[in-house]
Amino acid sequence: MRGSIRLFKVADISINIHITFFLLLLLFLNMGVKWLFLIVAIFFFVTLHELSHSLVAKKFGIRVKEITLLPIGGVASMTKMPDKPYQEFLISLAGPMLNIAVVIIFFLPLYYILGPEVLFHPLSVKTFPLTIAHIYWINLILAIFNLIPAFPMDGGRIVRALLAGKLGYQKATKIAVNFGHIFALLFGYIGLINGHILLIIIAVFIYMAASSEELQVDLRETLKKFTIKDIVPSQFLTLQKEATLSKVLELMFHSHQEDFPVIEGGRMVGFITRSDIINGIHQHGVSANVSLVMKKDFPVLQERDHLDKVQNIMQENNIKALPVVRDDSVIGVVTIEDVTRVYSLMSKR
Ligand SMILES: [Zn+2]
Repeated sequence: MRGSIRLFKVADISINIHITFFLLLLLFLNMGVKWLFLIVAIFFFVTLHELSHSLVAKKFGIRVKEITLLPIGGVASMTKMPDKPYQEFLISLAGPMLNIAVVIIFFLPLYYILGPEVLFHPLSVKTFPLTIAHIYWINLILAIFNLIPAFPMDGGRIVRALLAGKLGYQKATKIAVNFGHIFALLFGYIGLINGHILLIIIAVFIYMAASSEELQVDLRETLKKFTIKDIVPSQFLTLQKEATLSKVLELMFHSHQEDFPVIEGGRMVGFITRSDIINGIHQHGVSANVSLVMKKDFPVLQERDHLDKVQNIMQENNIKALPVVRDDSVIGVVTIEDVTRVYSLMSKR
């Protein structure tokens, strides 16, 4: 996520902290070190919550690149959406279940160590044991809050997954998004009359995130109906390995193409994208050869590939264009713009 700083990496997932988070720390630093400790502890459990989602997602082959800690909670960025409703159900449930597990596991130890007097009166943070009790109960609040069916929060995702089996993904999303909007308005209202700024921010975030998910699902459902064969441009240019980057730049100016298959002896030996070309010129100058900066390892597309899958492949590999092959020979280049153009042409908006 833009504006975030990497803290560390766990299980190949980078844990990032958003710069706005430091504002929250500053705010609480004013109120004393105990509050600062409390905030750090809360976000430790928020991180565990997000990791729990991420590890279940990983089980279903969904890569999670990063977890970003925002002042309003954590966000795990998945490279694609789950294919099956039961996968989304389990991924969404995993986060709140982690917090509930913490509550169950630590109940008896804390009951004996802190005593019922402290454990059941956590609303004051005057002494350190009470801070521990506070952190303990935060886990229950995290679980309950996330289970509210305010899509795209976990509870809302669980609702969508349950509805998707019967109604299909698109209809289920519409209903879940409506839930999200209603809860966002409710949170916003409660926040306004009580002067809770954080709740207002959460409300705005939920409202916008719900709308954006609806758009993504619409996009995916539209893309599902088309294949590469429907959009692959009929003409395209290829490059030789020995071509210089200045020659490539010239080709880019004279055509609309910005990504090129590299051919040697009639076979594709590499692929060079717009960003490879620009980075290559910066690093090696315009007289460098294509073979120096081209990709040698990249996915290829088939004519029968559906566009939703193509979008996933491009997102997962962080690449904006890919070659299309038929029987080992390259027959075209498709870019992410070619894919999304289908949606803008087909959508009613
Ligand atoms: Zn969650």
